[in-house]
This record gives sequence, C-alpha cells and structure tokens, in this order.
Amino acid sequence: MIFISSSAEDWRAKYPGLTPIIAQCSACGLALVTDRPFVERGYAGLAVGACSCGRNENLADVRVTTSSETNARWRSKLEMGVEEAAAEQETATDDKREGQEMGDLMDIEIARMKSRHKALMRRMVLRLAIALLLGAAFVYLCGKL
Ligand SMILES: [Zn+2]
Repeated sequence: MIFISSSAEDWRAKYPGLTPIIAQCSACGLALVTDRPFVERGYAGLAVGACSCGRNENLADVRVTTSSETNARWRSKLEMGVEEAAAEQETATDDKREGQEMGDLMDIEIARMKSRHKALMRRMVLRLAIALLLGAAFVYLCGKL
C-alpha cells in the first residue's frame, strides 16, 4: 500500500467508484473516515489515517480496481437490464433444482446399498446358524455311537 499525497476529493474525482466509509478505531472506538488516498497493485483506495489516540492498528479502507477491463465488466453488470438479471436468477434456480435432484438420487443409491448390505449380513448369520446346528448334530450323533 503506497499512500498518495493527493487530497481525498481529487482521488475520488479520479476514481468515482470510491465511496468513503466511516470505520471505528480498534483501540478507542472513535469514528474515522477513510480519507487517505493510496494505491496497491491493481487497486486505488482510501484508507483511514492514524487515530488521535495513536493506538489504532486496523487500517480500514475502501478500494476500487484500477484495471479498466474489470471496471468495464462491473459497469456492464450494473447496466444489465432487469429482464436479464431475472433470467440469470432463473438459471441459478434451475441449477439448484438439478443439484437437489442429484442429491435425492444419491440418497436413494445409498439407501439401496445399505439394504443390500443388510441382506448380505442376514444371509451370513443364517449360514453360520445352519453350520452350528449341523456341527451340534454331528457331535451329538458321534456321542451316541
Ligand atoms: Zn483511537
């Protein structure tokens, strides 16, 4: 972050997207306005200055991108008609619905796997019981002979 020796007014005239905000000092709670122009890689902004208490550590800031390409994209989004915005929302809802259907299918698949597992366990227990029964009968018969 490089601070610019220009007035906040000039800076806002240069970057109209910059809206100053009021932030509280992290130490004393005093309201501070973002009025220190700065630049940072790809961004221009306004940050709060040092508080009169001299103990604020947070450096609240507002910033806008200096990239003209990103700015153009934002502007076109803002200017996008209400109809288009509604259409976009509709698509989002469809996506969500599709996602939910996928989730339901997965639930069904999991339930199916669980019941298959249960059936397998039941068969195993049954076989074990039969084996034990046969073993007991064999031992009983051997004892008789
Ligand atoms: Zn303070």
